[in-house]
Amino acid sequence: MRPPSDNPFPRAIVHFDGDSFFASVEQTMNQALRGKVVITGGERGAPTSVSLEGKKLGLGRGMSMQQIRERCPEAVIVPSDYTAYSIYAHRMYRIARRFTPKVEEYSIDECFADITGLEEHYHASYAEIAMMIKRALETELGLTFGVGLAPNKVTAKAASKHRKPAGFTVISVQELPAFLRDLPIGKIWGIGTASSIELSKLGIRTALDLALKDDAWLAAHSVAKPYREICYELQGHFIRELNLEPDCEIGSIIKSRTFSPPSSRREFIFSQLSKNIENACIKARRHGVHAREVSFYLKTQQFTYHGLAVPLSFPTASPSDLIRLASDMFDKMYRPNVLYRATGVSLRALIPVDESPLDLFGQSAVNERSSQVLEAVDALDHRYGANTVFLASSMKAFAFKERKRRDHTVRGRLSLPSDISKKTIDIPFLGLAH
Ligand SMILES: [Mg+2]
Repeated sequence: MRPPSDNPFPRAIVHFDGDSFFASVEQTMNQALRGKVVITGGERGAPTSVSLEGKKLGLGRGMSMQQIRERCPEAVIVPSDYTAYSIYAHRMYRIARRFTPKVEEYSIDECFADITGLEEHYHASYAEIAMMIKRALETELGLTFGVGLAPNKVTAKAASKHRKPAGFTVISVQELPAFLRDLPIGKIWGIGTASSIELSKLGIRTALDLALKDDAWLAAHSVAKPYREICYELQGHFIRELNLEPDCEIGSIIKSRTFSPPSSRREFIFSQLSKNIENACIKARRHGVHAREVSFYLKTQQFTYHGLAVPLSFPTASPSDLIRLASDMFDKMYRPNVLYRATGVSLRALIPVDESPLDLFGQSAVNERSSQVLEAVDALDHRYGANTVFLASSMKAFAFKERKRRDHTVRGRLSLPSDISKKTIDIPFLGLAH
């Protein structure tokens, strides 16, 4: 490969990485959490994000919730709210796209932007354009971002990590060697622990060590293509294209509803959860996906959460499977005499139905029967409106909604009378306990 040109930025690639993204979103949404140690992941018992306040105290995602509680009893632990995080992610992508159409939605808290050739358009340098985008993101979202501007994705990603939080690092082709000199090879995107051990056996300990290797050396050591590409990018070449397809895949389906007044009645709360599960499953079926993981939560009057995340033994979007599971686990979340104001469910690790593996023990046969019933339910909903037919376990929630609707009519609000009377269906093999 030829040495990179003397142009400081043959391509100008910017990487944006939200600082403590989930915890920061929680703090932006809820003033009471600002300035506090906030930990997300409460529903699964393992931290998914630690607020900057927590990081300053040395708390990290690698710790268990118990370790965090011991080290920092005042930490506020909240369940992950993936709906909110993904709304913020999409706002982040949209803001970046105002400056350039070339944006890769890399993950829920990261994106790449290609700003090559835009200097004239903005009458600004690449660093100034990257800074403009950073300011727009930070002021409009109320979050801070680590930002790196470099000649390609691998080096931009290393640059955005350089100073934390709220860092801004610009590295031209000519500045790369100095930047890579002190960077351990294992810190480079795409190089895991195993490959960094392998590379260190070849004498490569820093990112610069790899950048200094030539084609002959790479060939002689039969270095695999992904590592060759990393090597070229560390040298300043642009190899890895941005993936500009918006991420249309739905990562998770979340259904949650607040009810008022709050209630402590077990049956009513379970029914609310059941209704959310049904609605989440309707959405999953509409998108043709099955979940491999589910989480349930109850939100108290005091805005604390009691929740659980459960990996599923087989992928499903069947409400009966999930309601049965929720029923089995309900008492792990529910406390009598506590007032609850909302319930929620999140279907996660979604996969297309046709990629759903067949199981060995006949669960698919049961699913087959229940999927015929569900198809009929969807057809009725399609014809008569949402939730024309629902499971008996959700009845209390629907009755509550119906009562509320009537109350509103009495108070003079406009509300169309529903001429389809809601019906419940009794499906014996679904085995609903509630
Ligand atoms: Mg991040």
